[in-house]
Amino acid sequence: MSADPARIDLSKVAIVLNRPRYPENIGAAARAMCNMGLHRLVVVAPERYEAERALKLATHGARHIVDAMVMAQDLGTALASFSFVVGTTARLGGQRRVYRRPEALAEALIPVSVDNTIAIVFGPEDRGLTNEDIRLCHALVNIPTADFSSLNLAQAVMILCYELRRVAVAAPAEATPRLANRFELDAMYDQLRDVLVRISFISHENPEYWMSRIRHFFTRMQLRARDVAILRGICRQIDWFGRKCYDDGRGGRAKER
Ligand code: SAH
Repeated sequence: MSADPARIDLSKVAIVLNRPRYPENIGAAARAMCNMGLHRLVVVAPERYEAERALKLATHGARHIVDAMVMAQDLGTALASFSFVVGTTARLGGQRRVYRRPEALAEALIPVSVDNTIAIVFGPEDRGLTNEDIRLCHALVNIPTADFSSLNLAQAVMILCYELRRVAVAAPAEATPRLANRFELDAMYDQLRDVLVRISFISHENPEYWMSRIRHFFTRMQLRARDVAILRGICRQIDWFGRKCYDDGRGGRAKER
């Protein structure tokens, strides 16, 4: 199947957890990945790994991700087969000056994913990624926060996975139904002007002044051909009703006499 250059291919993206300290965070990260349709998990030298603790947070739904996760000794080895590496960081400044927001990163990864495997690397809960780890990355991403910038590891994974999913399933823009053409609009404005003058909504002395405001108002709405037909129908009915009332009134007075 040929790749869709407008969307990211999530099967090309792996989540890499570098030296996570709590097995629960591995499970919760796996669950976030599963929620968002990512399935490749790499874990580098976890501290005191206990499958049971990880699986508890992964729940039944993401168990297969934990079962299939790849364990690596060090970050360099874990990243060896990836051609594009993104580091995630709560701290900015120093070597971390150039970074993107998650939504911009996700967009930028769409063309990269066509021919490349991508790793998104997360650091340990206490210290985050070191400068040495950052040197292995092609790009950095920071999740903007209030003053307290350090998110829980699995929650940071969720935000990145959410943004990646957004560009994986982006609905194709729906075709705009046929908009009213210039001819239809001008005929509608003429009719509207006549009826608005007739019911004294706008002055017959300077109708174009008021009509220009009404035109602006309708222009913002991108009227469709169908909308114009409805508005013209309303104008016709107002016109008909006004005439009828006028005629009935005259008839009524004629009867009184
Ligand atoms: N105290 C560490 C943060 C560790 S949180 C520090 O100051 O760097 C664990 C991991 O979650 C981080 O290494 C990073 O991968 C991710 N993370 C947490 N908050 C983040 C944020 N605001 N933006 C991007 N990633 C974040």
